[in-house]
Amino acid sequence: SVRIGVLALQGAVSEHVRALENSGAQVSLVKDARDLAGLSGLVLPGGESTMMRKLMDRYGLFEAVQQFAEQKPVFGTCAGLILMAKQIEGRKGPHLALLDIDVKRNAFGRQVDSFEAELSIKGVSEAYTGVFIRAPYVKSAGKNVEVLATFEGHIVACRQGRYLACAFHPELTDNPALHRYFVDLVNAYQ
Ligand code: GLN
Repeated sequence: SVRIGVLALQGAVSEHVRALENSGAQVSLVKDARDLAGLSGLVLPGGESTMMRKLMDRYGLFEAVQQFAEQKPVFGTCAGLILMAKQIEGRKGPHLALLDIDVKRNAFGRQVDSFEAELSIKGVSEAYTGVFIRAPYVKSAGKNVEVLATFEGHIVACRQGRYLACAFHPELTDNPALHRYFVDLVNAYQ
């Protein structure tokens, strides 16, 4: 079976590990660039994107992940989606700039810090509970980006080739469908 890494600098790591293992993948934690060797895919978890970027720089992972992503599938969730975006509202430059999307951070307002919403995710699940925690949404997406789910008219899950991203926390629901989808994607890119 394929081996998938979870960026383990900060944020929601262990639940992703469990969900990927339950989806049939082998899993490794990624804490520095050497940890990327031998991986077929990578998950960028939720947390806080600015802090995660700082830690990626500190541990030599920023360029290493960018290089990894030139060949391999990457799945960004919440802060991970922000790290993957080519444009971030209110910020001068992007982070990894992998996905042709324009994102807004903390987009659902402070009064609703976190909430759950029933989603239909194209090709994944028609009844999926999305757990949103200070979540971003995608304001606009390029024509090569496939929209997989929307909530209140905003894009909350999308895919561009080997890149998958969602604004919510898939590791915090019992439904393994989205992790399975990513494991399938990784297998397809082997
Ligand atoms: N608000 C966080 C950020 O801007 C993302 C929140 C999350 O990952 N749950 O990075």
